[in-house]
Amino acid sequence: MVNRAPHVAVVGGGWAGLAAAVAACQRGWRVTLLEASPHWGGRARRVASRIGPLDNGQHILIGAYHATLGLLTTLGVPLDQALQRVPMALAYPDGGGMRVPRWTRTLPRPAHAVGLAAGLLGAQGWTWRERGAALARLVRWQLAGWRCAPLATVAELCVGLPPRVVADWVEPLAVAALNTPIQQASGAVWLRVLHDALHGPAPAPYAPSDLLLPRADLGTLLPDAATRWLAERGATLRRRARVTRLQAIAAAVSASDHGNADAPAWRLTVAQGDPVQADAVVLATPAWASARLLQALAADPGCPPGWEARWTTWVSRALALQHAPIATVWLAPPPGWTWRWPTPMLALRHHPERAPAQFVFARAGATPGADWRLACVVSAPDPAWHGRAADLAAAVQRQVRQALALPDAQVLATVVEQRATFACTPGLARPWTVLGPTLVAAGDHVEGPYPATLEGAVRSGLHAVEALDAALTPGFWPRL
Ligand SMILES: Cc1cc2nc3c(=O)[nH]c(=O)nc-3n(C[C@H](O)[C@H](O)[C@H](O)COP(=O)(O)OP(=O)(O)OC[C@H]3O[C@@H](n4cnc5c(N)ncnc54)[C@H](O)[C@@H]3O)c2cc1C
Repeated sequence: MVNRAPHVAVVGGGWAGLAAAVAACQRGWRVTLLEASPHWGGRARRVASRIGPLDNGQHILIGAYHATLGLLTTLGVPLDQALQRVPMALAYPDGGGMRVPRWTRTLPRPAHAVGLAAGLLGAQGWTWRERGAALARLVRWQLAGWRCAPLATVAELCVGLPPRVVADWVEPLAVAALNTPIQQASGAVWLRVLHDALHGPAPAPYAPSDLLLPRADLGTLLPDAATRWLAERGATLRRRARVTRLQAIAAAVSASDHGNADAPAWRLTVAQGDPVQADAVVLATPAWASARLLQALAADPGCPPGWEARWTTWVSRALALQHAPIATVWLAPPPGWTWRWPTPMLALRHHPERAPAQFVFARAGATPGADWRLACVVSAPDPAWHGRAADLAAAVQRQVRQALALPDAQVLATVVEQRATFACTPGLARPWTVLGPTLVAAGDHVEGPYPATLEGAVRSGLHAVEALDAALTPGFWPRL
């Protein structure tokens, strides 16, 4: 019998699926990547507009995203050209707010918290009492080992803090990171993210708290580089290839071959395309899509006996996740207008109805001298906006015109991602990675330390492939 490389089908071409496909290819496995839509990148992708490519939503990476930055490096993406590095800041257009001073970025890792402490002590528009209270709370969280009661909310962690400190610092940062209002957001996950941003590993030359803003569109940042890299290594890449059914097709291989007596191979039915047979499957689809495929698999007569019991809890956890939208309103300032603030990202004074955007980002045009675009982000918009994208855009336009003293900004595009992230609430039970020796799940919803983020997605993709090692690597047995 001829030995050959295992064949892995990765279902879903978002950042988790792309990371998994690259990791599988690096192991020498054959890879087929199947994406339902016409584009790669999933919830972090390029969208076409009448004025050229935009993003479906402004994304921020931070220096602590070491898995994502590592993946980009593997793909040959020059980080310094692809990402604009900005010290962590929550500055407002009127000059108020907090900025981590540049000099603190060169401090060795254990001292990174000094940067945030210095930023809080220098926060503009705060009284000394407010600065002291913010710093004292940061120290208290550090002394508690960045841990709290599992069911605590971010708002509960902030009890006793002056309202301005919560409104100007905790609330915008927590909403940006968790996309969940602080009254419902998990305190434990917030502390975890804060810990990593201050003390986590970051590849040189970055500090973990650095904000890294894509200079070009999101498609250019990862999906283009990843699909090129995969194609050069012989991977099969299929768009418009929705997987509609998974079937276990091979009987167990003998335990003596590689120690996995119940490791079936798989047949994937693809809408409007040829089916795929593979030795293993990475299910890198969103939680609801993975749950649907697993429910159908469990009901399939070919499902290995007893397997469906493994998935009941997985499916119920996946379906129990609540999702939160993010809206991005793209504005065009008048020709010749220039961004005059020191950082390309500003926090905005927020009111759920009158001033719905929390942040505005300046995006330079693709060529020098080209016009600016403003990405205005509405995280977890008030439910009253549901189905009223044009009204939301008009409210954001009014808000930004006023905040930036910019009377002529026109709306270019409004993108509302209804299921942008899962709501990151306390004590959330998330679905896990390993569904069987040759069937694994990836995606930002899969159990892990992070909320729904690019880093969570990439880590889950890498982890899913590691979990297949045991079934596929040692003495792989040819079956198909
Ligand atoms: C507007 C917005 C702003 C955000 N801002 C940030 C940010 O600033 N920082 C940050 O870190 N994160 C941010 N996020 C979150 C981040 O984008 C997501 O966590 C991440 O992209 C999720 O990647 P994923 O691969 O897990 O899932 P997805 O991107 O959802 O990928 C799943 C893919 O599977 C495909 N698919 C579904 N069903 C099938 C099927 N049956 N067959 C084949 N393919 C299928 C889908 O089309 C999709 O491409 C933001 C998200 C949004 C929407």
